[in-house]
Amino acid sequence: MNDYKPETLCVQAGYKPKNGESRIPQICQSTTFYYGDTQNMADLFDLKAEGFFYSRLANPTVEALEKKIAALEGGVYGLGCASGMSAILLTAMTLCEAGDNIVCASEIYGGSFNLFSVTLPKFGIECRFFDADCSAKKLESLIDERTKFVFAETIANPAIVVLDFDKIAAVCKKHELLFIVDNTLATPILCRPFTLGANIVVHSTTKYIDGHAAALGGMIIDGGNFNFKGNKRYPAFNTPDESYHGLVYGELAVAFGTKCRAQMIRDTGAIMSPQNAFITYLGSDTLALRMERTCRNAERVAAFLAKHPKVEWVKYSALPNDKYHKLAKKYLPNGTGGMMSFGIKGNAKDCARFMESLKLITQETHVADARSCVLHPASTTHRQLSEQQLIDAGISANLVRLSVGIENADDIIADLTQALTNV
Ligand SMILES: *Cc1c(COP(=O)(O)O)cnc(C)c1O
Repeated sequence: MNDYKPETLCVQAGYKPKNGESRIPQICQSTTFYYGDTQNMADLFDLKAEGFFYSRLANPTVEALEKKIAALEGGVYGLGCASGMSAILLTAMTLCEAGDNIVCASEIYGGSFNLFSVTLPKFGIECRFFDADCSAKKLESLIDERTKFVFAETIANPAIVVLDFDKIAAVCKKHELLFIVDNTLATPILCRPFTLGANIVVHSTTKYIDGHAAALGGMIIDGGNFNFKGNKRYPAFNTPDESYHGLVYGELAVAFGTKCRAQMIRDTGAIMSPQNAFITYLGSDTLALRMERTCRNAERVAAFLAKHPKVEWVKYSALPNDKYHKLAKKYLPNGTGGMMSFGIKGNAKDCARFMESLKLITQETHVADARSCVLHPASTTHRQLSEQQLIDAGISANLVRLSVGIENADDIIADLTQALTNV
């Protein structure tokens, strides 16, 4: 199945019915599963057999989505999570203990930045931020023997920086260190991080993968391409887990994914709900189609904004003069998604006037939806950040984040045109 092209995987991967079963996965709305014999149950608890026994650990509907996204990414194992944030938290919890550290791009989603800079330090996990444009040498200077992973986004939300995969992959390889990528805004349709050196991919499925603003969710995909065994950086993967009768995760084919589910999904309960998995599964059927349309629309909108007299600048890496155009051509050859940001000639008040004048495009705390939407990050998602942190995150006071949807591009451009006359 995994040899098929992404368009095919979107509608065919993840679930295969047997004779007489439903064509698409059913919503398995059950907390628990029946077994007639004790040995079968015992084997499941010991991870010696595969099967479902309690929906806090695994569920058939969630599994269908996990398998679909794992196939699309070319990974070996998926873990459906309650949200994108829980996917990132569970990833960090699976790898880090107090005293460890994470090396992370500073241009990341506001929620992830908060998790890494405020919440995880309270548990003794330090985060060291690097500028996306920094040299490999600078990146290396942040790494020590307690560093557990390097984290960055394929397309940074909302700074629209394109990740320099080769630079980070080379450093991680040299230090036998995990490279973790948040691929939310690119989706596996536009970029497949495992082919570019990443070892674990995380998603907020809330965005393009669902695509209809209907279900919150997250996904962790294990690339199965990292050797934990004997790696001194990861003692937790090389010592027996007493809560599973001495299992050594580093010896398993799916080391990270198994540890994440067996320990952290078990202990936190942050698994995706069957209902949300079903909605997301359905939405993801059209992911490839939607991404194609989204990219073509966004390219037209970005070109329009770039020429507009009331627009100071546009950040969209498909634009030929964009700072990240070269990286985009290399890593995102089929398009760079619907997210862009632009600066209105004026201040935060002018941004507000512009956004309130929009009739079709709506103001929302959301991106990467079928519908076009806008947001003013400095006064909303990133308002907790200090002035310096805003600069570090690449967010100015006049920055408007625009997520272009799948409407007709002429209608989107007409709405922007009329709203800009009010600035
Ligand atoms: C939205 C988002 C998240 C968080 O996802 P939720 O589903 O809202 O928890 C993480 N990373 C990126 C890049 C996002 O856009």
